[in-house]
Amino acid sequence: MTYADVIVDISVEKLDKSFQYAVPKRLEGELKIGACVQIPFGGRKLKGYCVGLSEKPKIDPAKIKEIDGILQRDAGGEDVRVALAAWIRENYGSTMIQALKTVLPLRKSVKKVERRTIVRKAGREELISLLGESQRKKQVAKERLLKALLEEERIPYEWVTGKLGVSAQTIVSLEHAGALQIESTSSYRNPVKFQSGEEGWRDLSPRQREIVGTVLEDFDAGMRETYLLHGITGSGKTEVYLRLAEGMVQRGKQVILLIPEIALTYQTLLRFYRHFGDRVSVLNSSLSPGEKYDQIQRAKTGEIDVIIGPRSALFTPFSNLGMIIIDEEHENSYKSESTPKYHARETAEKLAELNGASLFLGSATPSVESYYRAMEGKYRLFRMTDRLTGGELAKTEIVDLREELKAGNRSIFSRRLQELLADRLEKGQQSMLFLNRRGYSGFVSCRSCGLILKCPHCDVSLSEHRGGKMICHYCGYVTQKPAACPTCGSRYVLGFKAGTQQIEEKLREAFPGIRTLRMDKDTTATKDSYEKILGAFADGEADVLIGTQMIVKGHDFPNVTLVGVLAADLSLGSGDYRAGERTFQLLTQAVGRAGRGTLPGAAVIQTYQPEHYAVVRAAEQDYENFYQEEILYRELGSYPPVEHLLAIQVFSVDEKRGEALAKVLSEQVKRSFPKERFAALGPSPAGIGRVNDVYRHVLYVKASKYELLVRIKDKLEETVSEMQLSRENVQFDFDPMNFL
Ligand code: ADP
Ligand code: ZN
Ligand code: ZN
Repeated sequence: MTYADVIVDISVEKLDKSFQYAVPKRLEGELKIGACVQIPFGGRKLKGYCVGLSEKPKIDPAKIKEIDGILQRDAGGEDVRVALAAWIRENYGSTMIQALKTVLPLRKSVKKVERRTIVRKAGREELISLLGESQRKKQVAKERLLKALLEEERIPYEWVTGKLGVSAQTIVSLEHAGALQIESTSSYRNPVKFQSGEEGWRDLSPRQREIVGTVLEDFDAGMRETYLLHGITGSGKTEVYLRLAEGMVQRGKQVILLIPEIALTYQTLLRFYRHFGDRVSVLNSSLSPGEKYDQIQRAKTGEIDVIIGPRSALFTPFSNLGMIIIDEEHENSYKSESTPKYHARETAEKLAELNGASLFLGSATPSVESYYRAMEGKYRLFRMTDRLTGGELAKTEIVDLREELKAGNRSIFSRRLQELLADRLEKGQQSMLFLNRRGYSGFVSCRSCGLILKCPHCDVSLSEHRGGKMICHYCGYVTQKPAACPTCGSRYVLGFKAGTQQIEEKLREAFPGIRTLRMDKDTTATKDSYEKILGAFADGEADVLIGTQMIVKGHDFPNVTLVGVLAADLSLGSGDYRAGERTFQLLTQAVGRAGRGTLPGAAVIQTYQPEHYAVVRAAEQDYENFYQEEILYRELGSYPPVEHLLAIQVFSVDEKRGEALAKVLSEQVKRSFPKERFAALGPSPAGIGRVNDVYRHVLYVKASKYELLVRIKDKLEETVSEMQLSRENVQFDFDPMNFL
């Protein structure tokens, strides 16, 4: 006998309250987790959802009632969300309850919060005269606020103290001067108030018009597709999103726009507010749970047409969804880091299918996955190759660090970079120094010839561990670090260690009196510090901004004319099949930071691998050719998107038990599918082998069919659940963003 766990009330508080029903013989095999069923309940017939199946009755089997039957799903609404959760559970691995919790809006106690708004009080002339005064006195914070007030009549208080970095004291002093007034309301209904149609529509460029026209015509013809827009920064992608959204609204449809949290700037939001007024809303991390909940309610009741937010905004309960737009679709943050580890792009594809909606993706550096699908003809590709705002791409030079060492330069700054930095200091222009630390996991390289020590079995780099050991985190291979380089015999074979703080110190040594700002994990630990540092840099409070990948995202500093990338290789050596892609994206973005204003820009990329295609193509800003070489590498290594990869992670408080379980699972995989073609690798200790005293082991399965990996996952889930483990935990990650 099979028993089904059924929930009758789909709300987060009631999810754990399931009731067991017997599955009649005629429905066995047909009834799947996530199905919609009719059940007898307290003398009535109710609709419920199946969240689990088992062979064991939880109570006296004589008291268990039978399911009446499987119901057809209703279009829209709850049924679709449960179907989406079932799909997530199946394709990424989790319980149905975990999947439902991901998809359903969280109900938190809603407390009214006080919301303050800064309202312009003085006339234009008065503001301009105050602005002149603050400029003379070099009161930069005041200046920023006055400039903002000249543009906007009403500005949220948090935005002024946060993004603008203006202190409460400064606000009060401007209030006393009669420039502004602080308004308080206890309503959280709408985070920002704007009138719709405040801004007229721009005339689209011919290319923009063609793209918007094609997508909307397809929609009207009943075609639902996935589109990929590859457009360089400043080519007018956001304008295209706006018009697509408008087209949907005109058709009585709703729109979800996903934007990475970090790019969710007030400037972008303003463009939407001005067109859609209070019919648009935003979900981001600065909203309280109550405010978030409220936005979701507004979506449910049809008060809003467009929602903007990060990954989780995908689950906004619209009843008439027409389009999902994903900006910067290549961003890693679209993949969830907790179980179920779903990818927002793929999940959006499923959601669009369930709702009869279209999916529109945009990026300046599309993910290899999306571009591959476009090349296969699964996605429809559009290109925009011109910058609408003018401004030339930076002149980029690649500096070979091996040559620097040969010439006796042991400094972290190449001679060329030093020369250009000195020049910018003299001219009073600004520079940015970018330390590429992404994916950095202690890889070992030769400083004389640039050789990176790799695993003989995997073509990924080895990571340095204590005691001079080097480990491959993919297959588990271990070897001793050599005393000399196997290629050139040099003794400079070292793990890479460099931090932003060291760079700042070295920079001050090389250029006494230089004014620096630093942006990394340490300096951005407190709320708003991120905006404050950027604000100070924009105000010219420093000559150089030093930072990790945080500084390369979407900020325009017109006075920045030089970008230096200190170690382009760090991300190449991360021992990861996405290293080339990530490096290309970061370098392209970094180089794109220079010369945004009227002054021409230059960029210097320092590297031990000047001939690596990711470095060369990024310097040329040539995505096409980068892609061609990257996909070849993926084909050779059978990596995603050409084939698929399932990472199985075992967490255990006991190292030996964790290792043993990982081995058991690995054997299980090999034994259970003798006829299928796949490769099982590992197990090995994970890249970060222990966190909070929990040990991690990982094994990989590679296969050309995603569906086979899903079956392997199902099998392992079953095995693990039979073992009834209490101190171990197993997680699945399909096509992971990094080797774990
Ligand atoms: P992207 O999102 O690709 O970076 P944006 O949509 O932000 O590009 O456009 C870049 C700049 O060009 C913005 O300042 C925008 O206002 C301007 N812009 C976009 N479309 C047009 C247009 N059709 N006519 C004039 N300016 C435009
Ligand atoms: Zn060497
Ligand atoms: Zn290996």
